Amino acid sequence: MSERKKIDRRDFMRFTGAAAFTGATWMAVGEKAEAKYWQLDPAKCTQCGQCTTHCVLNPSAVKCLNQFDICGYCDLCFGYLQPGSRDLDSGAENQLCPTAAIERKYIEAPYYEYKIHEDKCIGCAKCVKACLIFGNGSFYLQIRQDICINCNECSIAKSCPSDCFSEVPQSQPYMFLTGDTYLAHPPALS
Ligand code: SF4
Ligand code: SF4
Ligand code: SF4
Repeated sequence: MSERKKIDRRDFMRFTGAAAFTGATWMAVGEKAEAKYWQLDPAKCTQCGQCTTHCVLNPSAVKCLNQFDICGYCDLCFGYLQPGSRDLDSGAENQLCPTAAIERKYIEAPYYEYKIHEDKCIGCAKCVKACLIFGNGSFYLQIRQDICINCNECSIAKSCPSDCFSEVPQSQPYMFLTGDTYLAHPPALS
């Protein structure tokens, strides 16, 4: 009887060990098989400009986004206006963006809404830099996952001087300046 018990215990241990191994292996395979995205950490970005020039796509898959919940809706938006521009209006000569990708819309005095037309954005980060220095930092760069072709080796990641890029699970593709990640961004304006 005691021999029988020993065998049972040994068999049980062998069974549970095998089950644990199978579970661990399954999890490892699952993790490995989970597709990844390249993600840009806006908190590390120094707005060097290489996101425009080093993507394999032209225009770049890196776009400026506006985090509306921290935007000041400023009349004098340094991300929108050229430094020293004489008029606070949407005249082309007053705009900082080289492609006129930012739309300025009057809300109510003295607030304006700033929307990025991502089809025009080349990811140059000029507006991001100005908003960070003089404003709330609501403009930030991200890789648009619906445009990016998810290269094995992201050519911007290879050249980025600030080590901003990493591969992350597809369930958390986007990152705010605060480091919080999120799944989906509103569809791009065009
Ligand atoms: S290459 Fe890096 S530091 Fe330069 S703009 Fe892109 S994310 Fe920012
Ligand atoms: S200034 Fe550069 S990053 Fe900002 S919206 Fe225009 S093209 Fe995009
Ligand atoms: S993975 Fe390729 S397509 Fe996507 S941002 Fe990097 S270089 Fe551009």
